[in-house]
Amino acid sequence: METNRRSVLLAGVAATATHAPGAALADGIPTAIEGQIRHDDPACAAAADDFGHIVHQRPKCILQPRSSGDVAAAIRWASRQGLRIAAQGQRHSVYGRAMARDGIVMEMSRLRTIHDLQDDRVVVDAGATWHEILAETLPHGLAPPVITDYLGLSIGGTLIVGGVGSGTQRHGLQSDNVLAMDVATGAGHEITCSAQSHAELFDMVRAGLGQVAVIMRATLKLVPAPRQVRRHLLFYADFASMLRDQRLLAADARFDTVAGAILAAPKGGWSFRLDVARPHAASMAPDEAVLAGLSDDPSRRQATTLSYFDYLNRLSGLEKVLRGNGQWFLPHPWLMTFIGDARVEAVVGDALARLAPTDLGPFGQISLSALPRRSITSPLARLPADDLCYAFNLVRIPATGDAGEIGRLIEDNRALYGRVSDAGGTLYPVSALPMTQDDWRHHFGPAFDRLRAAKRKFDPANLLTPGYAIF
Ligand SMILES: Cc1cc2nc3c(=O)[nH]c(=O)nc-3n(C[C@H](O)[C@H](O)[C@H](O)COP(=O)(O)OP(=O)(O)OC[C@H]3O[C@@H](n4cnc5c(N)ncnc54)[C@H](O)[C@@H]3O)c2cc1C
Repeated sequence: METNRRSVLLAGVAATATHAPGAALADGIPTAIEGQIRHDDPACAAAADDFGHIVHQRPKCILQPRSSGDVAAAIRWASRQGLRIAAQGQRHSVYGRAMARDGIVMEMSRLRTIHDLQDDRVVVDAGATWHEILAETLPHGLAPPVITDYLGLSIGGTLIVGGVGSGTQRHGLQSDNVLAMDVATGAGHEITCSAQSHAELFDMVRAGLGQVAVIMRATLKLVPAPRQVRRHLLFYADFASMLRDQRLLAADARFDTVAGAILAAPKGGWSFRLDVARPHAASMAPDEAVLAGLSDDPSRRQATTLSYFDYLNRLSGLEKVLRGNGQWFLPHPWLMTFIGDARVEAVVGDALARLAPTDLGPFGQISLSALPRRSITSPLARLPADDLCYAFNLVRIPATGDAGEIGRLIEDNRALYGRVSDAGGTLYPVSALPMTQDDWRHHFGPAFDRLRAAKRKFDPANLLTPGYAIF
């Protein structure tokens, strides 16, 4: 039987729980929770996997909440049972960060309603995806200012890591553009937080790796969206000229989005590309004017005009290819970091000398995109001190699931993260590598004490989001 009655399940869970065995029914939670609870093999196996396909931690059960009240009630119940809890959005973590071994997984994708759309904001359930938000807002000529490169991620899953994408260069992270959140804390309290109300909770949820609360609903800022964008692919002979243009474009901001990629060249070595875009309008400056002074090879330039949605959804073609050839379902040992401008040549140059194309896999790439530090304001987002930083990511898409090879790539991630960190760089914590509690303390640096104090206050029993193993 795929789905069991929750009362039967909760009795089963309580019988194997470490605390207060057999107390579930007496606690009254089965009647308080409206959603379904599953503990069948297919549901538990799915909840024990993610896009990384590297870490597998099986929960005791999966809650499919029907309301935010379910989320808070389940947290209170889990607390009494001593069970840990992980919210799961779209399971696009790559290293088990949305898992809870022997605990409870909350399938937030069950809560995906878009509640209210106004000219400057939209109120959405945290399980909705960015794709779903855009489907609602773009017909009104509106969009959130920052959109991840991949649209199939949940609002909650990206707000707790930050959320980098189109718009970050001007508007920061997605977590910098949330106006308010309804959350359930680890103590089971439902609180609406914003910069004006419960501000400390608001600050510790945004990019806070799910340590203090589960996000149930978010009010996201909206801005006018262009109908179309003009996109250019620019190709470079070497790393130095690509970097020169990244600096130039970051300074003059002539494009809304500038994304750098370093790819294995067909004849060996590396090739360097910038993907730049600006809103398309009848009155816009001609291409030649806007591309003037750049160091790319003009004979290789490619320009297209496409709808804003097609531009934002530009990874869907690659997703289709990878689903078709099976690579979507193989392990993805990605490493995402930030490196400061002062050390970018040294660190990336060294990485390019060490990496072989097989370390990235077919369709894999290194992305390197400049971000002004000042645009990012979420207190728990960790960036280098430099005014200009780069998102420096190894998007590995191996053509193998061989455990030895994947283990080697994870060790390689660890070594590269060490070199990034030694150079003053930081981790974007959506990466596949083991992290000790000391590593996390180092990662958060001066912000660690603030996060720890918030953890003690809002999640005193340390129930939430055990997959990061921070506390
Ligand atoms: C194909 C792909 C493309 C990506 N592109 C980008 C990109 O362009 N920009 C970028 O910044 N990142 C990107 N990422 C990384 C991605 O943003 C993170 O891995 C994100 O956490 C995944 O979101 P999810 O909805 O799949 O969450 P899950 O993997 O389900 O969860 C991620 C984390 O969030 C927690 N969580 C989920 N929902 C909630 C909630 N409602 N409240 C509290 N905690 C919650 C989970 O417990 C877990 O710790 C990409 C990842 C993939 C696989």
